[in-house]
Amino acid sequence: MKIVVQKFGGTSVANPALREEVVKRVKEAREEGYKPVVVVSAMGRTGDPYATDTLKDLMVSSCGCGEQSLRDMDLIMGCGEIISSVVMSSTLCANDIPSLALTGGQAGMVTDGNYGNAQVIEFNPERLQAHLRNDEVVVVTGFQGMSHEGELNTLGRGGSDTSAVILGAGLGADRVEIYTDVCGIMTADPKLVSDARIIDNITYNEVCQLAYEGAKVIHPRAVEVAMHHNVALVVKHLSESGDGTMIGSESNYMGEGRFGQRDSHVITGIAHTPGLAQVTVDMGADDADLELSMFDRLAESDISIDMISIFPERKNFTIEEEKQLQAEATLKKLGVDYKITSGCAKVSVVGLGMRNLPGVMARVIKALNEKSIRILQTGDSNITISLLIPESDLSEALCILHDHFRLSAPPGDDERVLA
Ligand code: ADP
Ligand code: MG
Repeated sequence: MKIVVQKFGGTSVANPALREEVVKRVKEAREEGYKPVVVVSAMGRTGDPYATDTLKDLMVSSCGCGEQSLRDMDLIMGCGEIISSVVMSSTLCANDIPSLALTGGQAGMVTDGNYGNAQVIEFNPERLQAHLRNDEVVVVTGFQGMSHEGELNTLGRGGSDTSAVILGAGLGADRVEIYTDVCGIMTADPKLVSDARIIDNITYNEVCQLAYEGAKVIHPRAVEVAMHHNVALVVKHLSESGDGTMIGSESNYMGEGRFGQRDSHVITGIAHTPGLAQVTVDMGADDADLELSMFDRLAESDISIDMISIFPERKNFTIEEEKQLQAEATLKKLGVDYKITSGCAKVSVVGLGMRNLPGVMARVIKALNEKSIRILQTGDSNITISLLIPESDLSEALCILHDHFRLSAPPGDDERVLA
């Protein structure tokens, strides 16, 4: 069986006209001899009646305390995808395509019991395969699975992408297609950088970094699973033509592989994360115990920290702004000398091209300094350089770096030579 998994995000199934586009994509795949498996997210965005956030708000307002149990929250949030999958499968049936809807659990996805942020620990494809052999298009609810105890667990925000990749890997699909409201993975978020360009070919590693650093177009966990199982991933626009972005391993781009030429820019893309606060803590150079217990206490309070830089007498890190009050309470209790600056954003440049190429950090800093953008902190790893800046400068900083690294120019235009 030649199988393709097609995942349609919330904005791609939001109304009847869009669902007709989904039908077209399913038909195309069938005409090419594929057995499509469809994965859907909840319909629409916040404010739409069956969107995930709307269901969540319904719960919070009905209990009036905002502390509804995680179990109830998962049960209500899982409804969005169930509604969407039933609507989609009946639309397919109405178009003479035999179809049925299955929840993640019914489709064989077993989760670890962790409400709100579960991992899929097992996938049993038999039931799904039987429907495929019957020539039925199965529409699976994204974002959820069922634990061995029979509990509905959701996979965390963006989890439908992960559902699609798990199905693709488990079914041995030729590829997983992620349909969305942009033409592919772009050099930056097109909502903030108007001349962002579609990246035709990119590696798992780079997309993973971009996703971790805030590029919402795909969920990082989905890319990790795809990389692990070497599942070919394609990101495309639902209704516009075009090949979209092909995501594969680095070796796919070498020699006469099935993939095209990899981008030759030093930087492949830029991601951003708004809504951060910078925390600066001063303590004595010999206070190693205090330092340890500070990080322990923050972790226990479920405050994730990022961009950690440690000097003998100063520790800098970032937190999400919405965790600021909680962090202050923790730091006060420890009696440490701290300062929290809210209104920050992180800008991250990502690219395999910067590996073993010195001077990229200096170029980034210089480009921002020339336009008087204050850099509050920097961090770097293998193929990523991140900068913390005031959030008010975010769009400008993205455009400056996008221009500086000539990211709107086509891939053959070797920036390394021009730099
Ligand atoms: P879906 O509902 O289909 O899952 P998402 O909203 O999760 O869609 O992801 C698509 C959005 O991701 C786009 O509308 C775009 O604004 C945003 N985005 C952020 N960074 C990028 C990027 N580098 N390339 C493409 N889109 C991006
Ligand atoms: Mg998404």
